[in-house]
Amino acid sequence: MSDDSRIAELLGTLRKQGITDERVLKAVAETPREAFVETPFEGSAYANTALPIACGQTISQPYVVAFMTQALELGDRMRVLEIGTGSGYQAAVLAKLCRMVYTVERHKPLLKEAEARFRKLHLDNIVTRHGDGYQGWPEQAPFDRIVVTAAFSEVPQILIEQLKPGGILVTPVGYETISQDLIKIIRSEEGASPGYTTEALLPVVFVPMVPGLPQEGNDRNAKDRKS
Ligand code: SAH
Repeated sequence: MSDDSRIAELLGTLRKQGITDERVLKAVAETPREAFVETPFEGSAYANTALPIACGQTISQPYVVAFMTQALELGDRMRVLEIGTGSGYQAAVLAKLCRMVYTVERHKPLLKEAEARFRKLHLDNIVTRHGDGYQGWPEQAPFDRIVVTAAFSEVPQILIEQLKPGGILVTPVGYETISQDLIKIIRSEEGASPGYTTEALLPVVFVPMVPGLPQEGNDRNAKDRKS
């Protein structure tokens, strides 16, 4: 099967699973997932599954990437913060739908590989940061949208504060490693009370958010979760 027919099949599956935003489907179709997976998995790049990447992490399932992207209700002038660059795939999909993506990753080897992919694919509206996503990116805040691709046990208030009034944050939340809730937080307009609303969207499985940075020299082989 050619990549084109695999992509067409994937889009058909995403439609059946409830992805209706044509802009999101187009962004998925135009993002070569094979460039974001490790060589042994290239043949499965368009399968609707998560796959392992370096540093014990995963590239998310296309359905979950499309679902989160759709839930963000992106506009093409927006500035979006992503926590958890990983392979860079989610950032690449976002980059097709907004003005600027700011993405933060704690594992330097992953970030370097993602940066090389962004350069190769001429994704010039993605900026990266090696850092701890628990802090967000205060120097670039406030953001129109924030998306987190690892599970918090509890969403840090500091991240909600980096949203513009009316802004949307989509993140998995939960203590369990086998299932968490994908939630959508909408920050209230200026002065409104309460400060934000929360809605549960979907049960999901993400790697956990890990605070701080890995120890120097102990990065590439680091396993953040027991498996
Ligand atoms: N968006 C990615 C999915 C990556 S998996 C993709 O499309 O491929 C989640 C990522 O979150 C991992 O790379 C992990 O290292 C990162 N992560 C976990 N805790 C973090 C933290 N505190 N700060 C920044 N990144 C973090």
